Amino acid sequence: MLSTSCTKDDPSDNNHGFGFDVDAVDSTTGISVKYNEADTFQFPIELIVETYHITENCLGLYSDKGPPVIITNNSNNLIINGVQFSGYFYHSPPLVVVHDGLLSMNDTFRLEHEFIHYLLQANGQNPNHTEENQILFDRCSI
Ligand SMILES: [Zn+2]
Repeated sequence: MLSTSCTKDDPSDNNHGFGFDVDAVDSTTGISVKYNEADTFQFPIELIVETYHITENCLGLYSDKGPPVIITNNSNNLIINGVQFSGYFYHSPPLVVVHDGLLSMNDTFRLEHEFIHYLLQANGQNPNHTEENQILFDRCSI
């Protein structure tokens, strides 16, 4: 059970240090993906978009514009304030970061989790791990 926050509001320079270049963009949702290191598992953008829609449908919350996604194999990219995460959602500008070790073709839990943060925010709701939101995380990122 996650109790610590894995979101942060830090409009730091250069897209939270990841830069703004991307490897692929989905024209319908605007979701982009960047594989952060050369040997990062290149989880296909089609599956990222499919996971996004599954998460929307589970939540009953939708956004025409999806977030940029960084897939990384570098755990150091996911140490925030000294805490190691396996995925992370930055509020501003919105950015989803997921460790590729947590992704496989049939295990998208970590991506779903960060999309929940994004979709809550995109719908004007508190995107954090509130008690109320925990029900959504438990239900829609499995
Ligand atoms: Zn979280």
